[in-house]
Amino acid sequence: MVGDQSMDSRGNAGLLLNRALGNKVRVIRGLDIKRQIATGGYLYCGLYRVADSWITVGKEGFRICQFRLVKVGPDEEVKPQPVSPDGDTKTDLEEQFRRTVAYERLLRDSAVVRHVKEMYQDTCQVCGVRLVVSPDGKAISEAAHIQALGKPHNGPDTIENVLCLCPNCHALLDRGALQLTDDCDVIDGLTQKFKYALTRVKEHHIQVRYLRQHRSRWAERPSQPEIPEQP
Ligand SMILES: [Zn+2]
Repeated sequence: MVGDQSMDSRGNAGLLLNRALGNKVRVIRGLDIKRQIATGGYLYCGLYRVADSWITVGKEGFRICQFRLVKVGPDEEVKPQPVSPDGDTKTDLEEQFRRTVAYERLLRDSAVVRHVKEMYQDTCQVCGVRLVVSPDGKAISEAAHIQALGKPHNGPDTIENVLCLCPNCHALLDRGALQLTDDCDVIDGLTQKFKYALTRVKEHHIQVRYLRQHRSRWAERPSQPEIPEQP
């Protein structure tokens, strides 16, 4: 049996399900991809099996599911590899599907990211903006890691290192245009002047060492624009 791999947001669940069921997947590669559009057409690459899957944390703190695909022949047998965190293989198709969908949902945000966004109900801790995007009041926010994730900073994905911010404040923080003092005052990273008091709920403890690591990334940058001396 061959499972077609869709390119939409359900792709992860589809690949996991095909791995669970031992289906082969047809791989079609987009050529000359510009802004997610294959401007060079598509190339059929043959049949593959989903050999492995694992989770990494991407730049924005979202979890990303990655897959290893191995090319197989048309007559090659592919063994089912049930998706099961506890190694239980005795589950039926419906259960497999439920798990893959639940698993994929989990991948979108780490538990920490979801928790911090819930703490502030998507309201920016710096500027207080809450971006409502639907008639039922749903809002969007971003989880910002103070000590950045990934190399070379290797900050942890923990509550003590995460802020709930609007996209603007997130962009400024990531570039050091906003910084935080040890007391969680938000300062302009270019002038070092006070800008905002960070909104913080009682149970949200932010560790000073992450604030210091963040500030240290721009310590070499001149704090004031250089003004030539008057003659
Ligand atoms: Zn903001």
